Amino acid sequence: MTPAPLSDPFDLLDISSQVGDEERDIQATVRAFLAERVRPHIADWFETATFPRELVPELGKLGVLGMHLTGYGCAGTSATAYGLACLELEAVDSGLRSFVSVQGSLAMYSIWRYGSEDQKQQWLPRLAAGEAIGCFGLTEPDHGSDPADMSTRAVRDGGDWILNGSKMWITNGGIADLATVWASTEEGVRGFLVPRGAAGFTTHDIKQKLSMRASVTSELVFEDVRLPDSARLPEARSLGAPLGCLNEARFGILFGALGAGRDSLQAALDYADSRIQFGRSISGFQLTQRKLADMAVSLNTGMLLALHLAKLKEAGRIRPEQVSVGKLNNVRAALDIARECRTILGANGVSLEYAPLRHANNLESVLTYEGTEEIHTLVVGQALTGVSAFR
Ligand SMILES: Cc1cc2nc3c(=O)[nH]c(=O)nc-3n(C[C@H](O)[C@H](O)[C@H](O)COP(=O)(O)OP(=O)(O)OC[C@H]3O[C@@H](n4cnc5c(N)ncnc54)[C@H](O)[C@@H]3O)c2cc1C
Repeated sequence: MTPAPLSDPFDLLDISSQVGDEERDIQATVRAFLAERVRPHIADWFETATFPRELVPELGKLGVLGMHLTGYGCAGTSATAYGLACLELEAVDSGLRSFVSVQGSLAMYSIWRYGSEDQKQQWLPRLAAGEAIGCFGLTEPDHGSDPADMSTRAVRDGGDWILNGSKMWITNGGIADLATVWASTEEGVRGFLVPRGAAGFTTHDIKQKLSMRASVTSELVFEDVRLPDSARLPEARSLGAPLGCLNEARFGILFGALGAGRDSLQAALDYADSRIQFGRSISGFQLTQRKLADMAVSLNTGMLLALHLAKLKEAGRIRPEQVSVGKLNNVRAALDIARECRTILGANGVSLEYAPLRHANNLESVLTYEGTEEIHTLVVGQALTGVSAFR
């Protein structure tokens, strides 16, 4: 007798048995919310380059904004639960997961980890509730992979700071109420909280993107922006501070990308089952099955890697090069899966009616942001050899 097909590609290795009940419940809640509020509209939002800003308070109510942080209105969940929420968000669209990653792991984490008590009290509860939106400005027009050479500069002026420069490719930039901005100073790299409306601070959204279309990406410009010293993140004392934030966000990405992979594979499995060519379902052709099997193996092994890294994170002993292994492997795997799934859908695969090519286009950004594929390769290379090949 032929066995029934799996209802979820992760059932192949019974991955859900690796996850605790509470984490599974959180994952199911996020998935159900997205199925109702986002999935029916996401193709239109991608086509019209719309970020559903009205959903932000709902995401706050759902508890996913800064969910792995403790106190100040944050949910304080495990790393595994946070990863699984990212996976569900990205299964719908990487743009939405990017919003949640930037809000929680970059904007909120930078304040939670490096901020003063006043800064935490002022901003974290509002950001957790989705009453305010945050962004994180590190990349510049001329400095992406090498932020140590950043040109944005803050200079002391009496008790204040004067900030000049620009940041590029900043997720949430044009809709953010608050920007965490990294600048070089006489004393080294420092972080500043710059509120929307500060004199001399403007934003310009980046248009004509072929990726992350349901996400706002912007340039931030600072022209003699005067900030009090209380706007500086007091515990951020070097470039290690923004890099620490990025490590947090990459952890969400290494789960999230698998969501895009799972959704693509599910779409291909459904399509292959119903599409008839040469008198039979294309899922019965060996060449199709080879693609499906290879993708399922890659997706499931990526998930085991993600869950292993979550355990290391929960034990407080995850190292940056381990996060690099996860980001490198899982984003590559997800992108390969999304592209391969597109081939199974034939011509229909280029329509927004089906998710794989939208996921693939989004994953092109995921491959590049939060450290490019090449940079994470060099991180792993350095860990293996002890030799830095960055310069
Ligand atoms: C949609 C989107 C959203 C983003 N959101 C944010 C955000 O919220 N905040 C933020 O600060 N940034 C954000 N970024 C920026 C992102 O982090 C940068 O694009 C990324 O760090 C790479 O920088 P770059 O684009 O300047 O590429 P470059 O650094 O110019 O790299 C170009 C190419 O050269 C390669 N390269 C560079 N150095 C080396 C080397 N030493 N050895 C080998 N190869 C090398 C790179 O791997 C890449 O292939 C976002 C980007 C995108 C696309």
